[in-house]
Amino acid sequence: MRKGTLYVVTGPSGAGKGTVLSRLREEDGRLFYSISATTRAPRPGEADGVQYYFLKKEDFEAKIGQNAFLEYAKYVDNYYGTLEAPVEEKLREGFDVILEIEVQGAMQVHEKRPDAVLVFLAPPSFDELARRLRGRGTEEEEKVQKRLETARQELTCAEKFDYTVINDEVEHAVDELKKIILSRREA
Ligand code: 5GP
Repeated sequence: MRKGTLYVVTGPSGAGKGTVLSRLREEDGRLFYSISATTRAPRPGEADGVQYYFLKKEDFEAKIGQNAFLEYAKYVDNYYGTLEAPVEEKLREGFDVILEIEVQGAMQVHEKRPDAVLVFLAPPSFDELARRLRGRGTEEEEKVQKRLETARQELTCAEKFDYTVINDEVEHAVDELKKIILSRREA
């Protein structure tokens, strides 16, 4: 059986990765969305094993020691990482797998899995990114500032990826991603 393709969707926090991917999810049943582990606290409405596996720092570090992560990174004071075993299993079963991760992690996947398809989702402008991050109201201003500082660095990495999709309109970004996936399936 043909193995699935690993897609990595990266880009700064606030670019709309979550929104775009939840729309894609409704439209493509052949995609498996990896659930990441993190040490950040759950936001209201988030549940363990749904948006993330919420781990204590010691437990996350133990998993680093066991080499359990395909990639992991420290992002604004917390760890985030992709557990390798479930991703491998789904790929073996022939599913395409999507990781929604920040830029340092995406580069690690690129090193380890040169066959992974890397998509950089960019906001239309830095001002728009700032507006979206503040508008969603999930972080205090100090954390928003840290996310924006990180975003400035992340935006300089866009050209290292296979595709850049500008999220000016969610519909448009979802269509672009669908085209990328379709072209890989036909290849
Ligand atoms: P948030 O705290 O907003 O849920 O996520 C913060 C950032 O961490 C986002 O850019 C998100 O895409 C990224 N992220 C989520 N899961 C992972 C992961 O498993 N690995 C890495 N490297 N980044 C992740």
